[in-house]
Amino acid sequence: MEKFTELGLKGEILKGIQDLGFEVPSPVQEKVIPVILGEENDLVVLAQTGTGKTAAFGLPLLQKLDISRNEIQVLVLSPTRELCVQIGKDLQNYSKYCPDIKVACVYGGAEIRKQIRELEKGVHVLVATPGRLCDLIKRCAVDIDNVQSVVLDEADEMLNMGFKEDLNFILDETPETRNTYLFSATMPREVERIARNYLHDAKEISTGKKNQGADTVSHEYYMVKAKDCYETLHRIIDCAPDMYAIIFVRTKVDAREIVKKLQKDGIDCDALHGDLSQGQRDEVMERFRAKRLKVLVATDVAARGLDVDNLTHVINYNLPEDVESYTHRSGRTGRAGREGISVAIIHSKEKSKLRRIENIIKKKFQYREVPGGEEVCRAQLLFYADKIMAAEPKETMDRYQQELFEKFEVLSKEELIQKLVSFEFGKLLKKYASVEDLNLSEAERHESRGRESRRGDRRNEEVNNEFTTFSVNVGREDGFTPRDLMSIVNANSPRKGLQIGSIRIFENNTKFEVDIRGINGFTSCFRNVSFNGLPFTLTEVKERFSRERSNGREWGREFGGGRKKSAASSKWRSEKRRNEGSTRGRFGEKKRGIESGGKRFRKK
Ligand code: AMP
Repeated sequence: MEKFTELGLKGEILKGIQDLGFEVPSPVQEKVIPVILGEENDLVVLAQTGTGKTAAFGLPLLQKLDISRNEIQVLVLSPTRELCVQIGKDLQNYSKYCPDIKVACVYGGAEIRKQIRELEKGVHVLVATPGRLCDLIKRCAVDIDNVQSVVLDEADEMLNMGFKEDLNFILDETPETRNTYLFSATMPREVERIARNYLHDAKEISTGKKNQGADTVSHEYYMVKAKDCYETLHRIIDCAPDMYAIIFVRTKVDAREIVKKLQKDGIDCDALHGDLSQGQRDEVMERFRAKRLKVLVATDVAARGLDVDNLTHVINYNLPEDVESYTHRSGRTGRAGREGISVAIIHSKEKSKLRRIENIIKKKFQYREVPGGEEVCRAQLLFYADKIMAAEPKETMDRYQQELFEKFEVLSKEELIQKLVSFEFGKLLKKYASVEDLNLSEAERHESRGRESRRGDRRNEEVNNEFTTFSVNVGREDGFTPRDLMSIVNANSPRKGLQIGSIRIFENNTKFEVDIRGINGFTSCFRNVSFNGLPFTLTEVKERFSRERSNGREWGREFGGGRKKSAASSKWRSEKRRNEGSTRGRFGEKKRGIESGGKRFRKK
């Protein structure tokens, strides 16, 4: 506690965290608490989930509250209902000995009227998801005019989930004089933009490197044929009897299928995906938190904002579509300074994706061989033996002891152990008596490396010799995707099937490479083309892509900062949105033209 006192915390708040067993501050707490308590600084904090960031902002903000003012003074925004509730609970625990502090949580998927009634009673700290808070603001059911501190927790996740406009709206409703504290595990451009626009002279605090995973997480990969992924997963689980893990999959169909197979194989598990009702989701989470489920199979979206302590593993059954999501997945383990393992099951063609992830997390993946039958059985038996050794004899055993001893008297110690093990593990020993070796041969692994580097060589040749770079004035904000670009290029260029290289979609424009050798006046072919009503302006740009940057990301995502909107294009965009009566549904309007991906291109 001494250390917490040195940071400036006092009295009742200290008593609250003492009850939670906090003895020394975590690194992020050590850096953040004095700043929030002391100076009137805005803060950008780069911290993974599980580093103790809730207490880092929660403790000093609770201490700074003026209880005599019955109004919202602290606003915490979080991406998901689960995280919102978790933060609310944490803040209530920290302020256990300050009964006058009122903390409320508002989030979607719950009855709004009940939340309004709670707000009417008066609240000092409001924890909210952005969508629900916007609703409440629009209904004039919440007053955030006197908020002094705004916390944006997991800012990157909030933006990933499409809350950008909601955040802008909410922040515009809070007073200019507020302090803003932005917490994020990664620092993509969009988060930097929010920090630039809404924070003043922000101090930066980092407990790790940008976008880098926690130090306590080790990263391992297994390389197998695609058809062997499930069996590999099964063996990894069987080989770690004390596993408590989240398995990440890409789709809800995958989640359902894997759960079905694992349950059939006797593993306690369930799925968490977008098709579950809130009630079902809560029920699954309750069983998982109570450790009645050994593994939870989840999609990225469903697992957002989930804070579960003590996970031993995170398993990437498929690598994430978007390589940056890996940081979020692996950050679910190795929390609060504990060790964790993040496992990736890949097939040979995914090695380059793994390398891109290594570049982001600045750590190497260790190659692991898929365990064979003997290894799995040894792990299970030794775990069982350890559990038996650790068991405390129960006193009530005494009354049956004599009878049991007499029953087993005929057996030697060795025979007794053999029988016990056979009884307990008969099925497992039989299953693993002779199983296939799932590991790729050295040659197969080298073959994949060879293929990759040949592909790399081909890419380099293309970059060096053939591509011209162009820029167009539509970007991510206009709903523009690589598929749209390819459709427009193919539909309007004089030669079909042009070779298109890298594509980088920025907020308001897009850059791409295309091989136009032998075509004259390529840009003029696009003179009368429009995308969703916006005149399509194509210009050749001199500078080439940085190959490194475009390699590191996925198509269709936001790449880098992008140019600022020109005044004319901004005006056009805002007028168009106003005409369509919504900031979001701006692609609803139907126009004649070439259709691709549900959007409209049009030759004037
Ligand atoms: P958070 O990153 O806020 O979700 O915290 C992760 C976990 O660490 C939670 O279970 C906290 O209760 C725990 N925790 C936070 N700070 C401390 C601390 N100083 N000492 C021990 N545990 C902590």
